[in-house]
Amino acid sequence: MALSGLEIYKLLPASSKDPAEKAHGNCKECGYPTCLAFAMKLAAKQAELAACKYISEASKAKLSAAAQPPIRLITLAADGRSSKAGNEIVLFRHEKTFYNPAGIFVRVADTLPADEIRSQAQAVADYKVDYVGLALRLDGVAVEVASGDPAQFAAAVAAASAAQIPLILMAEDPAVMAEGLAQAGGVTPLLCAVAHTFADSLSALTQLRRLALKKNFRPLGYPAIAFPYLGGGGADMEMILAGQQIAKYAGFVVLSRFEPAEVYPLLVLRANLFTDPQKPIQVEPGVYPINKPTADAPVLVTTNFSITYFAVANEMESSGLPAWLLVADAEGMSVLTAWAAGKFDAEKIAKTVKGTSIADQVAHRKVVIPGHVAVLMGELEEELPDWQIKVGPREAVDLPRFLKTAW
Ligand code: SF4
Repeated sequence: MALSGLEIYKLLPASSKDPAEKAHGNCKECGYPTCLAFAMKLAAKQAELAACKYISEASKAKLSAAAQPPIRLITLAADGRSSKAGNEIVLFRHEKTFYNPAGIFVRVADTLPADEIRSQAQAVADYKVDYVGLALRLDGVAVEVASGDPAQFAAAVAAASAAQIPLILMAEDPAVMAEGLAQAGGVTPLLCAVAHTFADSLSALTQLRRLALKKNFRPLGYPAIAFPYLGGGGADMEMILAGQQIAKYAGFVVLSRFEPAEVYPLLVLRANLFTDPQKPIQVEPGVYPINKPTADAPVLVTTNFSITYFAVANEMESSGLPAWLLVADAEGMSVLTAWAAGKFDAEKIAKTVKGTSIADQVAHRKVVIPGHVAVLMGELEEELPDWQIKVGPREAVDLPRFLKTAW
């Protein structure tokens, strides 16, 4: 069972009966003002036990056992690629963060010819799409025994493992599984017996997660594997169910086939769910040339939140119009959020203009700010007296029209 803050406090030096240990009590070396404050952080899983070096071995043993992650980490590995699930500590992302994205695997049946299995596994291994600067990939292949023949299953596993990506081996018969396992050279696979009932996936997976996290019920403290194609309803329902299972709370999701148009939205959904809400995805501040700009090209200011940057960059790239994108460090926030938080004001924009090489890159002195922060115009004119400040549109999609008519 997880220990409360007060129960943890009783095991820390300030509560110790050993005078030598107690002498260190409230020493602040852990970075917290008192042992009690440290205990509260430990209970909230926001501090590491190792931060205090004065805890007795006996207390450490008790605290370590209680500090074990309620859901065990499972790692499927192949040469250079791995898929991890588990180690989650919250039910909802806003409580802290989710750590290990649900692994997305594609099923191949052992009844397919070996060449076909090899090429499908390679296609899964090679699939890679760029999404706001992140490389999104599938995690591996699940080889299913459909033939019932141990030799055929073994050949299928050997063919799939040539792609050197993580594998899941799906067989109910231990003897068949052993044959397959012997062929999984260089790969640490997940072995699973095929489940046939996922009628109430949301309820089942949520119950598993709640029991593991809220009740610390160790026998259920493992990542769950889900098979959305067993839910019935065809390809569309499989994708909807897969999305639900990625969100709540599968550790691994096995799809019945590999279709780029179907896996892309699932990968994007997963990327959005498993980013840390306290660390927005961001790009490096600086000057970004779009469509080979010359010294006459417009200068557009935006923030370094990835989605904001790519919204502007993509609109400009597809318009074919050249521009200089001047990206300010707004701590990874979007334009309006950063402005409201005081991270994207006239001073910050002026600092970006002066702190980069943009003045050397262009022959003019005009800069376009986002329409959402038109209110900054007056202050910015004071900060940048040599520059003409122009207010652009609120939405990136309107930038090309604005540049054709108002630049
Ligand atoms: S390091 Fe922190 S927890 Fe450890 S004795 Fe000092 S104040 Fe207490």
